[in-house]
Amino acid sequence: MPTIADRYKKFREQLPENVELVAVSKTHSPRRIMELYELGHRAFGENRVQELLPKYEELPKDIEWHIIGHLQRNKVKFIAPFVHLIHSVDSERLLSTIDREAERCERVIDCLVQVHIAEEKSKYGFTEEEARTLFSGDVATRFPHARIVGLMGMATFTDNRIQVAEEFLSLQALFEEVRESGWVDKAVFQQLSMGMSGDWDLAVKAGSTIVRVGSTIFGSREG
Ligand SMILES: *Cc1c(COP(=O)(O)O)cnc(C)c1O
Repeated sequence: MPTIADRYKKFREQLPENVELVAVSKTHSPRRIMELYELGHRAFGENRVQELLPKYEELPKDIEWHIIGHLQRNKVKFIAPFVHLIHSVDSERLLSTIDREAERCERVIDCLVQVHIAEEKSKYGFTEEEARTLFSGDVATRFPHARIVGLMGMATFTDNRIQVAEEFLSLQALFEEVRESGWVDKAVFQQLSMGMSGDWDLAVKAGSTIVRVGSTIFGSREG
């Protein structure tokens, strides 16, 4: 059986150096997270605040914690003091809450706007049209403590690799459109978070700058 360290090193060898890896540690124990930490890895992703908080308390404070799942507004205050990047901003109300809580902590929290690109119905994420509306409404100046640094998306859960590639390319096109629109500061709006264990290679080909990979590194999820 390969260890977590073996799997991590093998994955790193395949991933281009300019693409950031967020190791998705949801359901995995602090002990397993430390196996990667000891190899020098610092970026970890969690989708539930209740699960993240005890891990944050227990683990070294130089870990960069990424929130990758739907975030309830009433939970923002718990993570605002330390969260590194929120990938899953799926409403303007959430953005406004993040802005307020970040201001209370006297910090700026980096955020990605989640865009719904998959064919599956989901409650979460802006449609492309809603994202255009959001960006054209000067979000950058209205929420100075919630800094939008890019977009995030998830492809359809399917074996059809052509469809997945097309979905990633459509998100990349939107990303470029927003960058060129004059609505955002190009020096700030630079991140495109897409790709998971099953489709990260297609995401990287479509210009992803951050991949969120769990099971390829940690093995199948506990619980
Ligand atoms: C769980 C999860 C991942 C990682 O999934 P794997 O298939 O285990 O790599 C990536 N992104 C989000 C939003 C997730 O919830």
